[in-house]
Amino acid sequence: MRLIESILADAAAIAAVRRDIHAHPELCFEEQRTADVIAKQLSDWGIPIHRGLAKTGVVGIVKNGSSDRAVGLRADIDALPMTESNTFAHASRHRGKMHACGHDGHTAMLLAAAKHLSKHRNFDGTVYLVFQPAEEGGGGAREMMRDGLFEKFPMEAIFGAHNWPGMRVGQFAIKSGPCFASSNEFKITIHGKGGHAAMPHNSIDPVPVACQMVQAFQTIISRNIRPIDAGVISVTMIHTGEVTNVVPDRCVMEGTVRTFTLDVLDMIERRMKEVATHTAAAFGAQCDFEFVRNYPPTINHPSETEFARRVMAEVVGAENVMEFEPTMGAEDFSYFLQGKPGAYFLIGNGDGSHRQGGHGMGPCMLHNASYDFNDELIPLGATVWVRMAEQWLASKR
Ligand SMILES: [Zn+2]
Ligand SMILES: [Zn+2]
Repeated sequence: MRLIESILADAAAIAAVRRDIHAHPELCFEEQRTADVIAKQLSDWGIPIHRGLAKTGVVGIVKNGSSDRAVGLRADIDALPMTESNTFAHASRHRGKMHACGHDGHTAMLLAAAKHLSKHRNFDGTVYLVFQPAEEGGGGAREMMRDGLFEKFPMEAIFGAHNWPGMRVGQFAIKSGPCFASSNEFKITIHGKGGHAAMPHNSIDPVPVACQMVQAFQTIISRNIRPIDAGVISVTMIHTGEVTNVVPDRCVMEGTVRTFTLDVLDMIERRMKEVATHTAAAFGAQCDFEFVRNYPPTINHPSETEFARRVMAEVVGAENVMEFEPTMGAEDFSYFLQGKPGAYFLIGNGDGSHRQGGHGMGPCMLHNASYDFNDELIPLGATVWVRMAEQWLASKR
């Protein structure tokens, strides 16, 4: 690995900042303390900052030379509403809040890069360091754009990364095109007619209606979408009834839909509505159909993907830059990629052996109560960020 010496020298200090953030997790749009920590670090290093985009967002601006070229690097900064089961010294101090996705580490890697960029300035142009709140369901990226991120800080491209347990430290993964799915929610309320469960002929029972709908929805995946396209419909909640001898008068079903393209999403939403409405009608019931689109699919731009792949290969060797296998998880970096060219990649977090005594069962994936970010990644991630910024600004347009 070709790590940058000055970043390695600072890594322990940045790891301490990472652990401080880990111990004080904050949820969507409440990242006040976290933003204060980021702002203080950047200011201490002489980096001008802008605060307040999406409420708690922080943008650091590192400028050098006379070029008007600019590139953005993004870290998400929020935690999850879950209780940490680790008991090591930097475990969460707040019950019900935890950095279980490693956004504390994403913040630390970008801080380490910021420090090096401002100290050494081996580039001509501007690097925007985008610290984004509310990735975990709040759409912080969309809110930063609504608040004028790309107008205030006109950048040619933007790059983002996520740590990935199960991939070795020193490995990266990236892919051109769709890599994370669109994330959407539905809620279907079936209105029947309640009555005595011993005399069902006097009622319109919403339970068999719901059962038919659940089955029929899966035929949208198996019969309506092209076999080479991907889609998921998961009914995850069915709520109805209170007592064994009463036919309930309504049933509420909720769940999630995932797709890699908006075409498939349009089709699934339309078909689900048709299936729900007509199935309810076939049984003499009625239904309300609600469908909410959350994050769009994360689609990497081809030439920015190749650029990022080259930079990572220079740092860890081409054999350690894998092809990213797309996942049906979702990521709000997708909004940034709708506004600007760019790419999103994964950085291996190791199998969990980095964790100190006092952690729960391992190894574990993201969003597990015993997960922890691997501090070994800080110099590696920061080196890649610095090289990406330097080489982007030195590249031909
Ligand atoms: Zn997450
Ligand atoms: Zn995450």
